[in-house]
Amino acid sequence: MSIEELRKKINLVDANLIDLLAQRRELSKNVIKDKNVNNNPIRDEKREEELLNRLVDLGKEKGVDQHFITKVFYEIIEDSIRLQQSHVLNPSKESDKNKRLTIAIQGIEGAYSYLASQKYFAYSNRELEFVSKKLFSEVVESVEKGESDYAVLPIENTTSGGINEVYDLLLHTTLSIVGEETFQVKHCLVATEDVSIHKIKKIYAHYQAAAQCSDFLAKIPNARIEYFADTAMSVQKISEEKNPEFAAIASEEAAKLFNVNIIRKGISNQEENHTRFLIVSRNRIKVDNRLPAKTSLVMATSHSPGSLVKALSVFDAYKINLTKLESRPIIGNPWEEMFYVDFEGNTEDENVQNMLDDLGPYLRFFKVLGSYPSQVVKKTKLNPDRISDEKDASGEKASVLKDIQAPIIKKTAKSKSYKLASREYKEEDTIVKVRDVEIGGNSFVVIGGPCSVESESQIYACAKEVKENGAQILRGGCFKPRTSPYSFQGLEWDGLNYLEAAGKEYDLPVITEALAPEQVQAIAKQSDIIQIGARNMQNFSLLKEAGKVHVPILLKRGMMSSIDELLNAAEYILAQGNRQVILMERGIRTFETATRNTLDLSAIPVLRELTHLPIMVDPSHAIGERDKIPPMALASKIVGAHGIMVEFHPEPEKALSDGPQALRFTQFAKLMQDLKKLQV
Ligand code: PEP
Ligand code: MN
Repeated sequence: MSIEELRKKINLVDANLIDLLAQRRELSKNVIKDKNVNNNPIRDEKREEELLNRLVDLGKEKGVDQHFITKVFYEIIEDSIRLQQSHVLNPSKESDKNKRLTIAIQGIEGAYSYLASQKYFAYSNRELEFVSKKLFSEVVESVEKGESDYAVLPIENTTSGGINEVYDLLLHTTLSIVGEETFQVKHCLVATEDVSIHKIKKIYAHYQAAAQCSDFLAKIPNARIEYFADTAMSVQKISEEKNPEFAAIASEEAAKLFNVNIIRKGISNQEENHTRFLIVSRNRIKVDNRLPAKTSLVMATSHSPGSLVKALSVFDAYKINLTKLESRPIIGNPWEEMFYVDFEGNTEDENVQNMLDDLGPYLRFFKVLGSYPSQVVKKTKLNPDRISDEKDASGEKASVLKDIQAPIIKKTAKSKSYKLASREYKEEDTIVKVRDVEIGGNSFVVIGGPCSVESESQIYACAKEVKENGAQILRGGCFKPRTSPYSFQGLEWDGLNYLEAAGKEYDLPVITEALAPEQVQAIAKQSDIIQIGARNMQNFSLLKEAGKVHVPILLKRGMMSSIDELLNAAEYILAQGNRQVILMERGIRTFETATRNTLDLSAIPVLRELTHLPIMVDPSHAIGERDKIPPMALASKIVGAHGIMVEFHPEPEKALSDGPQALRFTQFAKLMQDLKKLQV
């Protein structure tokens, strides 16, 4: 056969191969479309193993070696899984199928985020439009405000580690993770002319890229590194400057895009240099339970010994595989950590829901960032003994962890309209820790201060009074919920600045009230505890917002609310992930008018039975008349409250709010003495 004839035949075989691949893809798509027929997982590892074994045998018969067969079929299997996964992202509405997808990225076209997005969205078959931003925070904002459909954010790199800024953004955003993509980063040194690397005087580089190529950079000590916001922008910069002595670190693709020369390829310290990206959007997705899924969450464990180990052993008890555990400091709270956890599983799955339920009691904050199809396609193993081997190994591992303390998998009673707040859900008392102060359990904590912050000197005088008398927390209203719109409304942010400064000066945690959902995030930055007042106990959007921050919330009982309604209000906060809620009885309205309200002290033992949350008493707003407050404060301790909150003022007659109930400094000092003497 002539060479031409041979080539013709090869071309024909290749065309047939493509035809067959296309046919296989069509069949694969039909597997997922065929949703209602059966509910088996897409990936059936046993079936894949059998299939691969069969293909290897078939290959042997035809003289094609095992390595080649497995290599080719790994690619085919991966492609088919990705095809099926893309079905989750595609709009169900037929009319949306031709719409462009808008994707926000940090950097410009050619940046690694751009390349990863192209890889990820290739399977969607939709046209892509990129919105380029300088900062990661702007990328997130772009999706939050609806300018873009998706954001693609790098989260970790196999050489340089996690990208802290992105982790911190995930904690606060309302967006959900809907997908992940990994991208092999192949850094090159690029320049406008084909010069020797020793002629290079300046290199523009993204700081992550420079860190990943540090070994190479050390070899050209004469070149100065100038940091740049992203890799593609540094290429754009050299292509504009056209100085042959300037170079940039970027991908091959970026070099092509800007038409510059690659002067050295493969300059990363590690050849296997991969970056993992997260795809986030406004709406959570439901991942078909037949697809392999991953879930990401962020959690803070409670302040008790071994709580991280206990939390992690819940994953083990449910046989859920953790794929990542990363810790980040909580900004503003030195030496406190948030844990970012990825695990194999889907929040649609009942086993995962039960696991999350059992995890709750060990946490003081938690937020599910999203469930999404897992992109890391596990390769099918070919070892025929695989199944029996794994059984042994996992059996051993489980028993080791069981020794530490396996949580009891319990189903909580679902009859009540609240669950997370109940004793059935969490047996032991929740202890809310605010800096060094513990609220709950056996402690009795006193929060003291004026009704409103009125001036810098007034709040400093009150802080001194709190400190000198051994009370633990300073209060001061900055945004005041006043019955009359003409009454003093508070010093607002100026007041909060004074309160924060006074707390710092006297080393006291501070508490102030938030009136509106929009204030919550900002107040959380300055106040150690956020109060939700009686008038707002059923302001559900405020409660939900309070559930998203990681500072404790003090929730006051509404003046016309039942204990059951109070616990349901707490449930709103807990259900959002914030597990640090302190309840407060502050008097309710009855037919009795002799006092401002009627202090329902019976609520304390009732609540202690119903809930694990700490319960405090505010006798000031309940009674409304200074001389009658101390006895009720003492009574609160006797009935089992975890503390009290009382109002006092340097000059009660001049107070801008609640003067008649403000204790004089002398009265407060005496009350503190009496409380100390009262041992219960
Ligand atoms: C307060 O604590 O200043 C306050 C306004 O309380 P309540 O919401 O209980 O009336
Ligand atoms: Mn008040």
